[in-house]
Amino acid sequence: MGTCASRSHRHPGKRGWRAMRRGVFQPNKTRDITGLRFNNLTAVRFDHRDERVKGGQHYWLFRCDCGNEVVLRKNSVTSNNTTCCADCSRKRKALVNTKHGGIGTRLYKEWAGIIQRCTNPNDTSWERYGAKGIAVCEDWKHFESFKEWALSHGYADDLTIDRIDVSKGYSPDNCRWVSVREQANNKKGTLWIEYGGERMQLSYWADRLGLPYHTLYDRLRRYGWSVERAFTEPVRRVL
Ligand SMILES: [Zn+2]
Repeated sequence: MGTCASRSHRHPGKRGWRAMRRGVFQPNKTRDITGLRFNNLTAVRFDHRDERVKGGQHYWLFRCDCGNEVVLRKNSVTSNNTTCCADCSRKRKALVNTKHGGIGTRLYKEWAGIIQRCTNPNDTSWERYGAKGIAVCEDWKHFESFKEWALSHGYADDLTIDRIDVSKGYSPDNCRWVSVREQANNKKGTLWIEYGGERMQLSYWADRLGLPYHTLYDRLRRYGWSVERAFTEPVRRVL
């Protein structure tokens, strides 16, 4: 009895197969990705389909930027889960595991800031992040994973991480790298601040002073600090 139910669940059945031949019902319809690029991988050709898995898994031959050719599960590549060949992946891991491990870099600070504001109730931005349910995905709780994503998704030292949907947390599908100014203008409206005889948008002040925009914003808007204090007091590191 149980087998019957599960079988009908797994297979399209007579009507399903007929619909499939007509091209109506195509659960395994596969997209031709020949020549398309996904991160460091370019699809060369379809390789095989693994029928042992429900629905069938498609495997394609990909060429990595390093020249290696590898057969990988198509979905794993198109979903950005696999971004390069195993050799390159190992090299990247070795890179972040070297002496510095990326600690002290701007990317590391960016990551540490995310972790702090989402997980540390003592952080100055906790109220606007962690307290509101803005979380970090499990993967990104490890700097190595975050770094790997960042480097394969256009990270540069003049960019900052941006959540596409501000009600959602930090994860590969909801984040991108944008310029600080672009992010500030998109999200917060424009905040003009006068200081030392100059009037500029807060995002420009943040650049000028080398202080995080969100820190300045919090100090002025959340804590009601004077501009003088907000701009001159050193940033407390909660690490
Ligand atoms: Zn490679």
